[in-house]
Amino acid sequence: MESAEIRRRWLSFFEERGHTVVPSASLIADDPTLLLVPAGMVPFKPYFLGEVKPPFPRATSVQKCVRTPDIEEVGKTTRHGTFFQMCGNFSFGDYFKEGAIKLAWELLTTPQDKGGYGLEPEKLWITVYKDDDEAERIWHEVIGVPKERIQRMGMKDNFWSMGVPGPCGPCSEINYDRGPEFGPEGGPAVNDERYVEIWNLVFMQYERGEGTGKEDFEIIGELPSKNIDTGLGLERLAMILQGVRNMYEIDTSMAVIEKATELTGVAYGDAEESDVSLRVVTDHMRTATMLIGDGVVPGNEGRGYVLRRIMRRAIRNMRLLGATGPVVKDLIDVVIEVMGRQYPELITDRERIEKVALAEEARFLKTLNAGTNVLDSAVAEAKAAGSTVLPGEKAFLLHDTWGFPIDLTLEMAAEQGLTVDEEGFRRLMKEQRERAKADAQAKKTGHADLGAYREIADTAGETDFIGYTDTEGEST
Ligand code: ATP
Ligand code: MG
Ligand code: MG
Ligand code: MG
Repeated sequence: MESAEIRRRWLSFFEERGHTVVPSASLIADDPTLLLVPAGMVPFKPYFLGEVKPPFPRATSVQKCVRTPDIEEVGKTTRHGTFFQMCGNFSFGDYFKEGAIKLAWELLTTPQDKGGYGLEPEKLWITVYKDDDEAERIWHEVIGVPKERIQRMGMKDNFWSMGVPGPCGPCSEINYDRGPEFGPEGGPAVNDERYVEIWNLVFMQYERGEGTGKEDFEIIGELPSKNIDTGLGLERLAMILQGVRNMYEIDTSMAVIEKATELTGVAYGDAEESDVSLRVVTDHMRTATMLIGDGVVPGNEGRGYVLRRIMRRAIRNMRLLGATGPVVKDLIDVVIEVMGRQYPELITDRERIEKVALAEEARFLKTLNAGTNVLDSAVAEAKAAGSTVLPGEKAFLLHDTWGFPIDLTLEMAAEQGLTVDEEGFRRLMKEQRERAKADAQAKKTGHADLGAYREIADTAGETDFIGYTDTEGEST
């Protein structure tokens, strides 16, 4: 089943059951606490928080999502992309646990010729929060899932909160058993690649108090109005329904892999290392295209920096695979071709998207070779001195002069067996920011030596290289 059909079935299934279809919001979150949208519930947050009265009791959407914290998994696991689409159904004080569970089961297991996704019930494994007897009872007694295929999990996996006082609650996840070729049996609690998580049902029923983070807090009461927030990964379901091994091989990704193999001459399936690179390229070019499509431009702070590091990582992986010239235009053309069906604005916006992406590629290619030489000699120097750590000043130099995002430096150093003094790097970044601020202040008061600081002011920003991953917590 094609991705477009999975999406169509999702929306019509829920629409027929009284849900208002809400189009995907932009990836640029309309929410000061988030850089980018990491989950389908984000556009509905004001309803869940009770800040705005929901205009409908039930809604459904297929939301574009970006999760930069998952970047390390990309290409290595079979199921994590930095960009993906989250299919969701939402109830605002309307149906609750039993309603949500029944709907999910019906859609997944109804045969394909009757409008569902036709998954075999025996392959579905359920997780519930360790104290959620009610969810377990519904799965077992109402739906008929045998107890052996229901597992209890802890706070980390099966309890949802936003990390601050407000609504929270247990979740229940539906996982699909891909069979013994994906590893030992035992259910999702022991093997999350074989029993791949496809759908998370969040039961917002409590109010949490103060406390730190997502695990250490107290529940202070029941919510007067209980809500449902669910999220199913469209690409993960496509991977299952299309019978491919990972989400980069589905209909809306495989063409990009093929283009990358054509541009580099490296065949997919040749070696694990080059396959990871091909998948990284595919994922990152999809993400970059979608981000630029929504108006993000590469830069040194915030979203612009997310885009920059994703693009530069894709370009560098293409070089690792053997590409020598520019590659971005060819790759973006394919992304637009496969994604344009679901997002026609990519087609009408093609010229602008390509212009932004090509300018970034040109900027990076200009310094990539020289930067690589700088890095190589810094590595050699460190090794000669008997050290396994690349000094923070070198990472700073690479960032500042050669446009290497810190994680590119980390990655390239790691390939040669070195770590990086990240603390030193961050200290230098902070000092530079402070200088830039002082400069801006001086400019205002008219006492600046404009020439001397211009370069610094242009490249510095408010970027906190670690900070943004914290603000992009997973919401569903
Ligand atoms: P995982 O445990 O596999 O990392 P998750 O628990 O972080 O997934 P949720 O936050 O529950 O995921 O998001 C809801 C659904 O969105 C998941 O069940 C999955 O189908 C999908 N999803 C989450 N992260 C990704 C990703 N990085 N790439 C593709 N799909 C994803
Ligand atoms: Mg995750
Ligand atoms: Mg999970
Ligand atoms: Mg989950």
